[in-house]
This record gives sequence, C-alpha cells and structure tokens, in this order.
Amino acid sequence: MTSHRDRAPLGIQYTSALTRPLKAAEDTARAIVHTIVEDGLQVGEKLPSEAKMLDYYRVSRQSLREALRLLEVQGLIELKRGPGGGPVVAGVDAAHFGRMSSLPFHLVGVTYEELVEAWAFADGQLAALAARRVADEAVRTSLDLYLEVRPSAPEGVEIEEYVDLHSHFHHTLGGLCGNKALELTLTSFRLIFSHHLLFELDPRRLGPVVEREHADIARAVLAGDEELSRKLSEDHVHTVANYYVDAATGRSLDALVEWR
Ligand SMILES: [Zn+2]
Repeated sequence: MTSHRDRAPLGIQYTSALTRPLKAAEDTARAIVHTIVEDGLQVGEKLPSEAKMLDYYRVSRQSLREALRLLEVQGLIELKRGPGGGPVVAGVDAAHFGRMSSLPFHLVGVTYEELVEAWAFADGQLAALAARRVADEAVRTSLDLYLEVRPSAPEGVEIEEYVDLHSHFHHTLGGLCGNKALELTLTSFRLIFSHHLLFELDPRRLGPVVEREHADIARAVLAGDEELSRKLSEDHVHTVANYYVDAATGRSLDALVEWR
C-alpha cells in the first residue's frame, strides 16, 4: 500500500446535470421512499410484505431486493431477518448522513484536520443561527438546562451516559437553527469526528471544561449575541479536537477521513 501522501486523491468534479437513467432497482427504491413519505410511515413501522410490494411496484424479486438493500445502505430502513422479519423504517439519522458523506470525503482526500475545520465552522454557524432565533420560545426553554455548571467532575456517570449528556447539548443546538437542511449537513461533521475518533477516549476527564463551555455558549445564544455564540462554539470544537490529539502520544489529525 502506498500512503495517501504519495498519490493524488480523486479530484472533485462538478457535473452540470446528473442525467444517468435510473436502474430498475433505484427506480423502485425511489418509489418505496415515496410510499414511506406519502403514508407517513414512522420509525419502527413495517413496510408491506415482499409479495405485496412485488405486486404493487411490478418489478422482479431481484430488483425489489436490490432496492431494499440500497435503502438499507442509506440507513433509511432495516432489514430484519427471520420469521416475522422484513423491512422496517429506521428513520433519518444524522450519523448516517455523515457516513454517506464520509465516502466522497475519503476519496477526494479530506483529512481529519480539514474535518475539524469544517466542524468548527459548522458549529459556529449553528450557534449563531440559534442566537438569531432567540425570540423563539423553544430556544430559551431548551438552553436553560445548560446554564448551570455542576461543581465537580461527573465521576459517577457511565461513559455512555456522559456521551449522551454531552451530545444532547449539540443535538439541541442543531435543532434550534430552524432549518433542517442546515441541521443535517452542519451536524454531520461532529458526528463523523466523534464516531471515528472520540469514541476511543474517556470523555469524562474533560467534563468540567465541557460543561463550562456549554454554559458559556448557551448564555451567548440566550443573549442573542451571534458573534460571541459563533466564536465560543468554534473554540469549543478546538477544545474537544485538541483533547483528542493531546490525549495520547502519536495521535494526529492528518490521516484521511475513513469511510465508515
Ligand atoms: Zn460539547
């Protein structure tokens, strides 16, 4: 294997229109998505049986299975095996959105360092957008929670619980930007970083710092101060990224973002 430094990655192309005709399976996948949206299917609900879908979409069994597999890869459905199994709606997970983008990121040569830069930019924007919407009741009530900083490190808290607590602040902030296209794209950088790298560490050691920074961001957003919210959020990303780099010798951010 040659290192990624020796060979140029694939370049980014800008096609004027994506005109490739859809294959039968893709066409069917699109039709299934249409059904999910039209029928308002929710997470955990089953799609119709294979026999019903074959009849309804009028495609070969192979195309139907390929279509379902395509949707499974995108994270939209889960294929439960065994008796009583079948395709179930899995929802739209921001982490899957991140996973999808990690493939082109990998191929065009995005490094974790660039990812951190994108993440800081994105989190800064999200906080600034939330600050702009401070008149909204939802912004005030959901950020109030984070103003208080607990005096001691959360030693008794399990790692998973701690990660949930930390992530919850960012999910909340993402949800307050008031634009789902921005919420999905801008939150994906943080999710890629935490799923690829942060899970290796015990984040509880950073606990008091993180809580204080969350409280500062919440306060700036609640004051409607867009510039300060942006800056504090960017700084917070660097606190977390630096913790990863400093936490052990030999860790760096110059590797290519993996596709996973
Ligand atoms: Zn945080």
